[in-house]
Amino acid sequence: MRPDKLNPLFAEVHTLDGVGPKLKKPLDRLGLTRVRDLAYHLPERFVTRRAVGNVDEAGEGEQIILQLTPTEHKAPFSQGRGPYRILAQDAAGNIIAVTYFGRASYTGKKLLPVGETRWVAGRLDRYGDMLQIVHPDHVLEEGGGTLQRLCEPVYALAEGLTQPKVAGLVAQSLAKLPDLAEWIEPALFDREGWPGWADALKLGHKSDNAVARDRLAYDELLANSLALMLVRADNRQRKGRALVGDGSLRDRLQLPFPLTGAQERSNREIAGDMAQISPMLRLLQGDVGAGKTVVALEAMLIAVEAGAQAALLAPTEILARQHFETLRTMLAPTGVEIALLTGRDKGRGREGILMGLMDGTIQMVVGTHAIFQDTVTYNDLGLVVIDEQHRFGVAQRLMLAKKGKTTPHTLAMTATPIPRTLTLAQYGEMEVSRLDELPPGRQAIDTRVFPQARMDEVVDGVARHLDTSQQAYWVCPMVNESETLDIAAAEARYAALTKQFGEAVVLVHGQLPPDQKDAAMKRFSSGEAKLLIATTVIEVGVDVPAATLMVIEQAERFGLAQLHQLRGRVGRGSEKSVCLLLRGETLSETSKKRLALMRETQDGFRIAEEDLELRGGGELLGTRQSGDTPFRIATLDQIQKWLPVAHDDARLLVERDGGLSTPRGQAARTLLYLMERDWGVQLLRGG
Ligand code: ADP
Ligand code: MG
Repeated sequence: MRPDKLNPLFAEVHTLDGVGPKLKKPLDRLGLTRVRDLAYHLPERFVTRRAVGNVDEAGEGEQIILQLTPTEHKAPFSQGRGPYRILAQDAAGNIIAVTYFGRASYTGKKLLPVGETRWVAGRLDRYGDMLQIVHPDHVLEEGGGTLQRLCEPVYALAEGLTQPKVAGLVAQSLAKLPDLAEWIEPALFDREGWPGWADALKLGHKSDNAVARDRLAYDELLANSLALMLVRADNRQRKGRALVGDGSLRDRLQLPFPLTGAQERSNREIAGDMAQISPMLRLLQGDVGAGKTVVALEAMLIAVEAGAQAALLAPTEILARQHFETLRTMLAPTGVEIALLTGRDKGRGREGILMGLMDGTIQMVVGTHAIFQDTVTYNDLGLVVIDEQHRFGVAQRLMLAKKGKTTPHTLAMTATPIPRTLTLAQYGEMEVSRLDELPPGRQAIDTRVFPQARMDEVVDGVARHLDTSQQAYWVCPMVNESETLDIAAAEARYAALTKQFGEAVVLVHGQLPPDQKDAAMKRFSSGEAKLLIATTVIEVGVDVPAATLMVIEQAERFGLAQLHQLRGRVGRGSEKSVCLLLRGETLSETSKKRLALMRETQDGFRIAEEDLELRGGGELLGTRQSGDTPFRIATLDQIQKWLPVAHDDARLLVERDGGLSTPRGQAARTLLYLMERDWGVQLLRGG
């Protein structure tokens, strides 16, 4: 149970003054649903501004506050595309632009009526031959002068929120911080001169305080390591069942290719684990196309040979369906019964599958999270395989573990190449098998970077490609700001390309009803449709060898691991494949280097390592958005510096006080709840 002291922090945000239904939506979008989330909503940066009478007194790139009077609103030419510009005059008669993109346009429109003078605070930049302020931090009717020279936090916002509003809510949340016993190891705490937890949070909101930020990052890393350590310790104590196959089913497989050395090695490691009583916790890490499916299949056959059942969990329905088809075909000569179970199966069909799982006539099942709902009972579940593991949290994995009579063996699979440092953070509780060798005969993918502005040429290229009766993917970016906006962009692109290519185009995105999604995927994989427009839902698993061209819009917005995954959808057949990365007008140096790296190599592990180097502490937001790490507070730099320390500290703590019952253990328990890594504690008695 969560310590009572933490309850005020876990209260919903509407318990704070001034939060009504209207604010709930934008707060939700930022993931700020509880008081705790606000306390941890650390500023993205800090600004100190200067009040100026007119723009002649200011330099480009400077943070200023000045009075402006809007003279004209210029809406974008087409709905939802391009910026909304408000032309405004300063006291000296200079005209500058106040610019808004996307949904923020509505805010700007309201805040800056023509003819009325307002204080506008933001960074003065150049746009062509005009000066502009993009997304001002403040637009005020009066009192702007008081913002001068304050060091002010700048928070991530969503439509409907302003800086002062967020700052006010943060202040309320900070006033509710309880007094908590210190969980950091005393020697480390003293050596680093860290502030206590509550002080660190307060400092973190006040100024760019590296020491406070480090401490907060360390808390998060420690909680993560500790939770993983507890899972691992718990797993060691659990009774599983030794599963040793006699090879009878595996012998009947008729694979059209010999296994690679890496596949053979992984098979041996997995078989070795499954032959033990203590349940396997193994991660199979292998780049896209490395051939993880066959390895999973062999493991599942071991379970069945030994008289148990095996389940494969996929993150999406599309992928579950595809795995099911692949496995069913490969299993044909073995006579093994396999079923597909997703959230969509209802009525009779579903009943039949549930019966079969309960009485054991179904030996293997493939599905989405539906396969571990409460209503699903297994006769004897011996092995759980989790594909694209990073999509599932440890908590979900633990739920699965409860499904067997004894704890089932777990094999997790991921194609996300993770740098070594992060492997520890994501999978610290697991053994790792790496498929570091691709099956022979894979074609290199010709990767090119194009400015988005040359869209016409790109579309012509796609036309030529489709003329050769090959297929293509077109990926629209997924930005976190708003899913609706992303989907609108994908739909606009779909409409435009349909004009040119007609029936040959299909669209798939996350909000499409499942049957429509399937129908579209089916038309594409059967070759009837030639061009698939998609948001990143196609990221994992989709396998259409005739698709040999991929276009990715606004490629700089993606994490490299994600780009690498996406690109892995092509280059699967015998034809040469091409990947076009479209980039925006202005790119940072880092972004340029990152895209160049994509062009240069196809080695996922190298991409992961170098991406980590390139970004370092820099583009923090990008890191968080791309979900490369399981952390919200710790930056890449902090992870590299502090994770090994936290990991060792957590190990020592669990070795000395596995039940977390000493005073420091108790404090650490509180930390686990605070950082929402309490799945570890729940394994402890009296947790
Ligand atoms: P991933 O690791 O991305 O899940 P898959 O298991 O889907 O990769 O395999 C990708 C493709 O490679 C499949 O078409 C599969 O049949 C093929 N494949 C797997 N192993 C080998 C091998 N040893 N030799 C040749 N082709 C292989
Ligand atoms: Mg796969």
